[in-house]
Amino acid sequence: MSTPSITRLADYRAPEFLIEKTYLSFDLNEAYTDVSSKLSIVSNPQSGKTSDLFLHGEQLELLSLAINDQPLSSADYQISREVLTIYNVPEQFVLHCKTRIYPDKNTALEGLYRSSGMYCTQCEAEGFRKITYYLDRPDVMSEFETVIIADDNAFSVMLSNGNCLSDSVVDGKRIVHWHDPFKKPSYLFALVAGNLDCLEDSFITQSGRNVLLQIYTEAKDSDKCDFAMQSLKKAMRWDEEVYGREYDLDRFMIVAVDDFNMGAMENKGLNIFNTSCVLAHPKSTTDAAFQRVESVVAHEYFHNWSGNRVTCRDWFQLSLKEGLTVYRDEEFSADMNSRAVKRIDGASFMRNVQFVEDAGPMAHPVRPDSYLEISNFYTMTIYEKGAEVVRMLANILGPENYRKGTDLYFERFDGQAVTCDDFVACMEETSGKDLHQFRLWYSQAGTPQLHISDSYDAERQQYHLHVRQHTPETPGQPLKQALHIPLKITLYGEQGAQDLIIEGKNYGEETVLDICREQQTIVFDNITEKPSPSLLREFSAPVKVDYDYQLQQLQQLILLDSDGFCRWDAVQNLMGRVLHEAIEGDSKEPTQDALIQSLKRLLQNFSAMDMGLLACLLDLPSEHYVASRYEKADPAAISQARTHLQHQLALALEPELLACYQALAGEVAGLSAEAMAARSLRNRALGYLMCIDKAIYRGLAEQQFFHAENMTDQFAALKAMVHAEHAHIEAQHALQAFYQQWQNDALVVNMWLQVQATKPWGDVLRDVRALLEHPAFDKRNPNKLRAVIAAFANQNFSQFHQLSGEAYQFLAEQIADIDQRNPQIAARLLTPLTHWHQFIAPYGQLMKAALDSLSQHELSKDVYEVLSKSLVES
Ligand SMILES: [Zn+2]
Repeated sequence: MSTPSITRLADYRAPEFLIEKTYLSFDLNEAYTDVSSKLSIVSNPQSGKTSDLFLHGEQLELLSLAINDQPLSSADYQISREVLTIYNVPEQFVLHCKTRIYPDKNTALEGLYRSSGMYCTQCEAEGFRKITYYLDRPDVMSEFETVIIADDNAFSVMLSNGNCLSDSVVDGKRIVHWHDPFKKPSYLFALVAGNLDCLEDSFITQSGRNVLLQIYTEAKDSDKCDFAMQSLKKAMRWDEEVYGREYDLDRFMIVAVDDFNMGAMENKGLNIFNTSCVLAHPKSTTDAAFQRVESVVAHEYFHNWSGNRVTCRDWFQLSLKEGLTVYRDEEFSADMNSRAVKRIDGASFMRNVQFVEDAGPMAHPVRPDSYLEISNFYTMTIYEKGAEVVRMLANILGPENYRKGTDLYFERFDGQAVTCDDFVACMEETSGKDLHQFRLWYSQAGTPQLHISDSYDAERQQYHLHVRQHTPETPGQPLKQALHIPLKITLYGEQGAQDLIIEGKNYGEETVLDICREQQTIVFDNITEKPSPSLLREFSAPVKVDYDYQLQQLQQLILLDSDGFCRWDAVQNLMGRVLHEAIEGDSKEPTQDALIQSLKRLLQNFSAMDMGLLACLLDLPSEHYVASRYEKADPAAISQARTHLQHQLALALEPELLACYQALAGEVAGLSAEAMAARSLRNRALGYLMCIDKAIYRGLAEQQFFHAENMTDQFAALKAMVHAEHAHIEAQHALQAFYQQWQNDALVVNMWLQVQATKPWGDVLRDVRALLEHPAFDKRNPNKLRAVIAAFANQNFSQFHQLSGEAYQFLAEQIADIDQRNPQIAARLLTPLTHWHQFIAPYGQLMKAALDSLSQHELSKDVYEVLSKSLVES
């Protein structure tokens, strides 16, 4: 293909024209849809004068074009693949445009498309231009009116944004008229038409207005919406209480759809959700999936303010809405569940996924400088690291100033499209803090590393902490500046946490150190013994910390630290050391002993602990995380060491694990946080026990599988059997029974596919190829692609990294095929191959060979961008 053009932040210009009102009419026919638009356009007084109008449009059939009711001739305009140019337009006019589109043929799932007979839209980031010609950019905000026309009785519901003005039948045609009074960019437009059931409820806002709440699904799923509805109401209340944000329209609608590229979309008043993020029922949904529904429903709802009322000026500012909204949903989830577990999940996700992204060829700042295809920038860096940046701001400012800052931001920029800088400026203005250096977090890519060492002066009773910061080079950014890094710490002595006295000021037992220079030493006074430093408490910054702990310091933190993240981090540190020693062929008994003794003491005391936290503490570091610690990683050695450690721990902790499993059997029901925590610990214990080849544990797993009252327990037992080689007979039996039981529930069938694609032993590539031929698989459905292909490539480390390189070639072939239909999903599937630099020979070379073979194909812009960046030699 020809090289696509790069879009750069530095080239941003204000729009030359604005669209004050947008009137759309959709005529839905069986084979095609006719879209008629009337746009009230004015030239932008903020911009230079011009008389040619450029509108975005792709894959559209233009039927007619008129200005102020005067039809245009072919000499008045020009159409290219992506732009419609209209010459010599007046300063103010109404453009009337008719286009024809084919939603049935839309397999990319961008714009208007059909999924299981239902029409729906996905316009973020640039899908609206596949519906009609438009200024499809977020800084053009317009008031929308939408009319949907279809044969009477064709659809039970016909929805769009805002409030419904009328719903009538004329000459056998049903006509539904919607109006959204709030100005919005085109990416927030939505339309749905289908035969759907509706769950209704209502919410009284803090100012006393009554809001109608509706969740639409296919009839077969109508019993699975209660939890999402409860989550929505909790989120609405929380946003009023914590941020003072009230909902604005008369109704709020959620629609669930099977075929969806993303998790969900915050279209104004009409959120569209992937079924996987809204449907939930205790029989068929795991606890983890329940929590995901709660957080995604909240996330999309919170966007009504952080995203919709105040939106992004351009797509480089994507983190303005996503980073802020992820931070908001994480805090909501922490308030609803265990805060410690939620924080560990967040930190673990950053380390396992975002740090890896930040060390690879796609590394980019939270506010990128350039892109070829914006769809490729819906990344962990924009979302998760962006949220960490807002979290750091909130912590630096403190709760009161942070709230004043967000109040000012929402008030000052309501109805506008703004930038990350505008957000930080509000925080600066209300707090009086200088955030000049802090702003670098938005422009500098890469994961900062803190190298920490210490010294103790017994005579002076002084403890010195030496901190050096360093951010490694990333593509296009060889030189890095020192960042403002908030480092939260506590110092533990024999008697517990010590008072922190710095330059005569007593900060109590915990404080945040502002690390702003490349090297810095902090001196603590009145320290009576050499302490164990508890560093980066609550994961106070998205950085790597390197401090050479003694074994007994780690043991002390594991058992006594009051911060959940630091306890978990201490276990991960110890496990990481055991793995490293094994990989280097230099296993040391004291390290493994320290780990086993610590875990034993925790397990013996399990009933007194936050059981969800204990389940996290028992979690081994992922292979990806271990690999990321090496310049060049040996995947076979990593997998082998990890499997061996898991087995060793199971044997050493067998009595404690069994006692814990049995004590928790039968007494955990319901969806309370405590019940979920107990189930997670019990199932973690089962997972370990199943590493031991004994009939008694296979029996326990079988019994749990066949008698489970909920999906969490049933699926955990299934996974434990499928993933244990010695249980293959029981596993075959259970897999069959599971499919029999759940074959009509698409979301559960996806779990059935996934558990097989992630099996760590046997010829899994062969199994995966067979799954692609299974009637339950559908290559056009993104959830199925994620359940089989993405799960295999991302979550099955040992099977994906095989010496033959066959799995790499398999992935490349699949991507080439999927790219023909759905470029967004194809580009995302490419991620595991992009890290070829990270692996020793021959793995790295074989991964690169797979990328080379993919580059022989005709590729979309999406895949081309990721591929070309990955193939750059370092
Ligand atoms: Zn979002």
